[in-house]
Formats: sequence, structure tokens, C-alpha cells
Amino acid sequence: MTPPRNSNAARDIANLLHPYTDARAHAQNGPLVITRGEGVRVFDDQGNSYIETVAGLWCASLGFDNARLVEAATKQMKQLPFYHAFTGRSHEPAIDLAEMLIERAPVPMSKVFFCNSGSEANDTAVKMIWYFNNAIGRPEKKKIIGRLKGYHGITIAAGSVTGLPVNHKLFDLPIAGVLHTTTPHYYREGRPGETEEQFATRCATELDELIIAEGPETVAAFFAEPVMGAGGVLVPPATYYEKIQAVLKKHDVLFVADEVICGFGRTGEYWGCQSMGIQPDILTCAKALSASFLPISAVLINDRIFQGLADGSASIGSFGHGFTYSGHPVPAAVAVETLKIYDEMEIVAHVKKVAPVLQDGLRSRFANHPLVGEVRGIGLIGAVELVADKATKKAFDPAQKIGPRLTKIAEANGLIMRALPGDGIAFSPPLIITAEEIVDMLDRFSKSLDELAVQLR
Ligand code: PLP
Repeated sequence: MTPPRNSNAARDIANLLHPYTDARAHAQNGPLVITRGEGVRVFDDQGNSYIETVAGLWCASLGFDNARLVEAATKQMKQLPFYHAFTGRSHEPAIDLAEMLIERAPVPMSKVFFCNSGSEANDTAVKMIWYFNNAIGRPEKKKIIGRLKGYHGITIAAGSVTGLPVNHKLFDLPIAGVLHTTTPHYYREGRPGETEEQFATRCATELDELIIAEGPETVAAFFAEPVMGAGGVLVPPATYYEKIQAVLKKHDVLFVADEVICGFGRTGEYWGCQSMGIQPDILTCAKALSASFLPISAVLINDRIFQGLADGSASIGSFGHGFTYSGHPVPAAVAVETLKIYDEMEIVAHVKKVAPVLQDGLRSRFANHPLVGEVRGIGLIGAVELVADKATKKAFDPAQKIGPRLTKIAEANGLIMRALPGDGIAFSPPLIITAEEIVDMLDRFSKSLDELAVQLR
């Protein structure tokens, strides 16, 4: 149907190129225009209400309205709407936020560098690692290892570390020197007869073999989301990180923990690193850092990295990296307020309290559903994977676009959902969600899944 002239839909189709959208299909289907939010719900321009099951993009941790964050932004706008951090300039919101992040870090960290997005934070981490290894006299140690299905953003370096075909095809990525290792997803990657722990051992062995084949003196760092998000919500098997970290230690390869989704309570601990037993050298975070009310991200580095960067910057006269908006005072002030809210509402305790409603609910209600191959998750992040044949784990033909079909049905049932590659349907609601709202969300999802099953008969 052609939207009326001058409607939001028509103007959208005429003027906007959408991220992560099939532009041809969009010209036919048009946008879903969201106009306001309230708690875990958003409303469209037709007045329909939806539970945001993925908190927007895994990010709106405090939901879609919060007077304190609005007040923090307004106050900072009036006080000092912009200043920067180049050449030693500073301001209180950035100082406060850096201090709060260092205090909350999962392992001792030395310094915080601010960026505007998760991609920029991971790109910055790659550049810091290259700079560090040059500065300490091992210029050959530069290669970066990510994981197939990992997601670290879309800028040139971060997009290369990402291990999803959609982010590489036609973009000439990955760049040279970025490699990918096994996805730690037992359901899909485990071999017949292999236990989960044997699979974890194999993942570590394959990483070890990759590093040895490349030459350990050329491999600088390993990037991992503690729990993979966009690649399918993939929770690694027990012992995986223990074994991976032993391999990295052996070859003096740095661990970069991408906490862009997992950070700030999502997995049931403050950091995904704590849920998974990871001791990172570098940690990147974004999204829930400011509850997504304004864009800001951060790179936390330990003292070993900082000393190398400091020496490098002293030899050149400057650490030649930074964004105009690195630590912008308004998002920084909002992030400071966000972290205070997390403390006051005891975010980790809240997630621990409601997470079983999501995790047990997903498993008890959907694990036996004929369309569901696997249910997985931890804390307030989860997924169900749709399959054509439950017994053989056969996936649907991607041309059938089963995931998007289900999310369309769910939309009509009052849910905004996200289909992931491989027909995983993600759950990552705002962290403020209540037990009752989780049950409501699962009821609506159950109805949607049953409607899909009827359509497929
Ligand atoms: N890292 C992870 C784990 C993410 O999930 C994302 C975004 O979803 C990014 C990095 C990239 O963040 P941004 O979209 O803010 O660049």
C-alpha cells in the first residue's frame, strides 16, 4: 500500500537510508514510526503500544522515560553544553564518570578513554593495542582474533573483528591481520559424542592452533563479548573462558572484553566478565552506560597498557587519537546519573531477582515447542532458536525469513522483537522490567509462536 503523501511513512521512504534494512523491501513495507516511550513500552504513530523485548538495541536499560536522566542532561546543558578533553582540557562530568568506571571495573583498571559508540570503542581498542605494541618495541605483534558470529560494531577495524557475513559482504572487510576463531555454541558447533566440556577444550585448542599457525609473535589480542549478543545470544559452555584465557596467557595475547551489551547488570552480575570469569586487559562498554539516553562509550585499560601508551605519547608528543565528542559533558553527566540510579536500585540484585522468570519461563514454555531447537540465555538476555526439524536441528531455509516473519506476527501482538542470524529470536528487555511484565511478554510471544506454527502447517 502506498502511504499517504507527506505522511511520516512517505517522507521516511523518500529520504532515509536505514541501518540494517533491506532498502528495496523498505520502500515497499515502510517504517514503523515510534513516537514515545513509557517504562518498557514504546508507542507508534498509530497509537499502538509495544513491549520492547530487546530494549531498543539491547541498550535502553532504564526503559523509555526517566525524569532523572532528563534533568541531568538539562542541568549539564545549562551549565556547560560542550567542552572537550584534547590537550589536557577537562570537565567534571568526564572526570566523575571515569572515576566511577574505574571503581566499578571487574579487575583493576588504570584509565578510561571515552568515545561515542560501541564501534568507536572497539576501533579505539584495536588502535591502542597496535600503538602499545609499537611503543614497547614489538611492532610485529599486531594481529587481532575475533570469533565467528562475534559482534563488535561496524567501523573498519571493529567491523573486521565482527564475525558476521552481513557486516563483511560488499564492504571489503575484514581488513588484513584480523582473524576469526570458533564460535562457542555447543548446540550448533558441538560434534556428535562430544560433551560440552570437550567442546570447550576444542575451542581453546583451535584458538591455540590458530595462534601457533600465525606465529604467536604476530598475534596481539583476542576480542570477545562475554555472552555473544547479535550473533545469536550464545552463552559459551562451562570452562570455555578458563581454557581460552590459559591459551592467551601462554602466547602473551591480550584479552579485550566487549561489554557493550553485557555490561551493567545484563548477565546477572555487574559485568559479563564476572558472570564468565574473565580477567580482561581492556574492557569496552557503551549502551547501558548512559541507559542509551545519549551516545557515549568507554574503553578501560589496565596499567600495563596505559604505561605503554604513555611512553608512546611522550616519545611523539601526543597520543594522536580522540573524537571531538570524547567524553562530551552532556552524555557523560547522563551516564554519571545512570550509574547512580543503578547503585540506588541495586541493579544486580534486581536482575538476579527477575532473571529466573525470564530464563525458567523461556525454557519451561518453549523448549518443547516443535518450532524451537534451543532455548538459551543468562540473566536478562536470552534467545529461542527456530528450526525446521527439531530432531535433526535442521535450520529453516534463510529465504523463508522465518525469524522476521515471527517478529512481524509478534508486532501485531504488541511486541517489538529482534530476529538474529540463524533464526534466533532475542530477548533483552530493559533491566527495569518486572516479573509481571516478563510474563506478559512471554504470553504474547507464545501466542505469536503458535500463530506462526499454524501458518506453517
Ligand atoms: N559491541 C557489541 C557487543 C554490540 O552489541 C554492539 C552493538 O550492538 C557494538 C559493539 C557496536 O556498538 P555501536 O552500534 O554503538 O557502534
